[in-house]
Amino acid sequence: MKPGLSTRCVHAGEIDDAHGSPHTPIYTTTTFKFPSTADLLDVVEGRKAGSLYTRYGLNPSVASIENKLAALEGAEAAWAFCSGMAAEVALFLTHGRRGIVCLGDAYGGTLELLASQLPLLGIPTHLLLGDDMGRLDEILSEGAELVFFETPTNPTLEIFDIHAIARLAHAHGARVAVDNTFASPVNQLPLALGADFVVHSCTKYLGGHSDLTAGALMGAAELLAPVWNWRKNLGTTIAPEIAAQLARSIRTLPVRVRQQNASAHAVAEAMARHPRIARVLYPGLPDFPGHDLARKQMVGFGGMLTIEVKGCGDDATRVADRLRLFALAPSLGGVESLVTQPCTTTHHGLTPEERARRGISDAMLRLSIGLEDAADLIADLHQALT
Ligand code: PLP
Repeated sequence: MKPGLSTRCVHAGEIDDAHGSPHTPIYTTTTFKFPSTADLLDVVEGRKAGSLYTRYGLNPSVASIENKLAALEGAEAAWAFCSGMAAEVALFLTHGRRGIVCLGDAYGGTLELLASQLPLLGIPTHLLLGDDMGRLDEILSEGAELVFFETPTNPTLEIFDIHAIARLAHAHGARVAVDNTFASPVNQLPLALGADFVVHSCTKYLGGHSDLTAGALMGAAELLAPVWNWRKNLGTTIAPEIAAQLARSIRTLPVRVRQQNASAHAVAEAMARHPRIARVLYPGLPDFPGHDLARKQMVGFGGMLTIEVKGCGDDATRVADRLRLFALAPSLGGVESLVTQPCTTTHHGLTPEERARRGISDAMLRLSIGLEDAADLIADLHQALT
């Protein structure tokens, strides 16, 4: 029987240590010695698995976290990177050179990379929003080779149908990559739904404590093999110390995320009843537009929600500034609850018209629910809204 997710989070990838350590020791080593040139060549020429040089990822701490990361998403293989953006860059340069389509809203850095930077290298990119989404079929017919999206998206929590998009992309010979950062593998398994790649900013839920920066790419071994050289020569492999810190966090991932799901649900319900709140965007609420699809493809609805304050952007800013327990900070997925106003942080660089096109109003506040008591978080929101 295949072990469950919690068991895999604790045990997958851990290597047996001669001293009996229950988890993989930290190999801070940059290079590894060999008894002979013949042994060295066995590793260099790929006849034997082994450690060689840390930037290559050939380090036991790196290999250990990669086996754990692959096990989380039910993938054949995983590469671990020094950031989520590093994972995306390596994916795009390997599997997106004939064209990348990004569906819906995405993290600001991803949008900048796709809209302004990859085109400088001659890589065609297409950012499809709202009504333009109907052009996916046409763009794929013209030869784009990678469809990329987040689900749920930031900050409107839009839900995309992974299975349906994968079917359409595969019919055109294209591949699908899902950024699973917001959901985490506890709530959603894109590979099982037909995606070819999963990308993570491990800086968020997988790291879970707002104290490390890392990224991951998961998928079939054959598809990940050519990504390895890009990571090696871009020099964006995860550091062994961070790999060990990430492994420690992943051992508690399901406990944290399930609690965050429950608290986010409670906060969403409380906010939906509040007279000063115009709208609550949370996939777990029955009147949320993507609720039925979320029920179909997610196990839990996640720890992220967006509230829209009645009034203008300044009213939302006042609420954000009055919160005491929620920290005003632009990240997510940690044990501490965070608040951001998208128009002043993640989407600050966009014009008001562009934000409106993405369904983002200035009165929105995005909440990342941590591990405090839900009642305390709700009380904090009540006092800030009063
Ligand atoms: N993907 C999502 C959904 C994100 O929110 C972020 C960062 O906020 C990234 C990717 C990039 O990750 P990193 O900051 O680890 O490079």
